[in-house]
Amino acid sequence: MINFENSFHNLNEDFYANVIPSIPPKPELISCNKSVAKLLGINLKWIKSDEGIACLTGSKVLEGSNPLSMVYAGHQFGNWVPRLGDGRAILLGEIVSQENERWDIQLKGSGITPFSRNGDGKAALGPVIREYLLSHAMYNLGIPTTLALTIATTGENIRREALLPGAIISRVAKSHIRVGTFQYFASQGKYNLVKDLSDYVINRHIPEIINKKSKYFDFFQSVAKKQAILIAKWMSVGFIHGVMNTDNCSIIGDTIDYGPCAFIDIFKKDAVFSSIDTFGRYSYKNQPLIGQWNLVQLANCLLPLFSDNKEKSIQMAQEEIDKFPKIYEEFWFNEMREKLGLKIIKKQDMNLIKELEDIMESEQLDFTITFSSLKFIFQNKTNRLVKFNKRSKKFNDWILKWKSRLTEEKISKIEIMKKMEFSNPYIIPRNHLVEEAIDFANNNDFLNFSKLFNLLSKPYSFEEANHRYYIPPDKVDENFKTFCGT
Ligand code: AMP
Ligand code: MG
Repeated sequence: MINFENSFHNLNEDFYANVIPSIPPKPELISCNKSVAKLLGINLKWIKSDEGIACLTGSKVLEGSNPLSMVYAGHQFGNWVPRLGDGRAILLGEIVSQENERWDIQLKGSGITPFSRNGDGKAALGPVIREYLLSHAMYNLGIPTTLALTIATTGENIRREALLPGAIISRVAKSHIRVGTFQYFASQGKYNLVKDLSDYVINRHIPEIINKKSKYFDFFQSVAKKQAILIAKWMSVGFIHGVMNTDNCSIIGDTIDYGPCAFIDIFKKDAVFSSIDTFGRYSYKNQPLIGQWNLVQLANCLLPLFSDNKEKSIQMAQEEIDKFPKIYEEFWFNEMREKLGLKIIKKQDMNLIKELEDIMESEQLDFTITFSSLKFIFQNKTNRLVKFNKRSKKFNDWILKWKSRLTEEKISKIEIMKKMEFSNPYIIPRNHLVEEAIDFANNNDFLNFSKLFNLLSKPYSFEEANHRYYIPPDKVDENFKTFCGT
């Protein structure tokens, strides 16, 4: 049983539309994420019961749930869209866990909402599996993300480029509020509603600043910091979000809206996978810049709340935005130093990291393996993983330099190893693995998907027998494209 609350519903109807989910013809539960169920304190038996399945596929609205779709606007690829909103997502309500944490549960793919525009509000099984696997992987990599409790098929086919099985994912997050949610109201000059929304966010997510005079600016600073942390973590695992529009930028710093995202195999700083990102706006290397761009949009919405003096508010925002590259770089530097097993900070470390990036790019090395094999190289061990990346003279020279740098560390070899072990995953949801799982699932075979899901639960554990999951495909498809998760 779920005891729903819905604090977002207590805001007035400017913020959402009441919506009843569509009833799927023949819902079938495909997977339930036990660790997410545990986090929320929901009984697994209940999830698998008729009522659980009915609730998590939209056929039954439970007491306390006030299903709604949120309104928001956004810059899509830099172009302003005054009204977007949850076109295929319905917030069922919130659950308060035993740890007193408030979690939203949303159904994605449950039918038309007032914000569906020309869409059908539904989701195909492929993108649903993609989001389920990727968000699970991110969570286990320690990267802030929305989660997913269940996925289910609906029993109907939906029309995309072909007829595809329809599915619903129950998405879980501490917040679904986006930069675009603020933009929707600010763009209409409704600053009283921007203030209401800010108060809601502060009360729910940063209660420690409620009584501070500078709380709205503090809130902005917290978003900037969380985005810096998030993007630094993405970069450290070779993740490309692919569609960092302001409506996909979470104000609590989660990775949200898994659409055309992907992990890099062979390292390329300007890698892009999304079929619609023609100019590489959201390429790997551009992500920190776009993070800053998105913050400018949020600051624009909040200016009147920063102070009574417009000039002063602009100056405050500008100073904070100017600081972003430095804040980001510091987080990124720390992430990357961990990956190399470094504790003390030396000036030359930045060069060491950048040289490795250049070598990975010029020698076309696999990003994940370059880092996951370092631990073995450090111990002078060799195995199939170590042998995978070809070693040029340049790379060997870099290894010598890195090893010599490690001798300056004051921590033991074991501690160095530990650092590397828990920051360099062996397994990430590589594109070909995810695609393979989806292909089987579309033919009603979920074994491959389950195996991948289980492996992604333990990204740092190494087993020789799983070698196939650690490496890129025989031939990396240079033209591999991802699509928005419709
Ligand atoms: P996204 O690319 O997932 O960030 O989605 C951008 C916008 O399109 C959001 O407002 C979505 O709610 C909406 N959208 C995406 N897919 C669909 C769909 N199948 N039906 C209705 N709206 C959709
Ligand atoms: Mg979106």
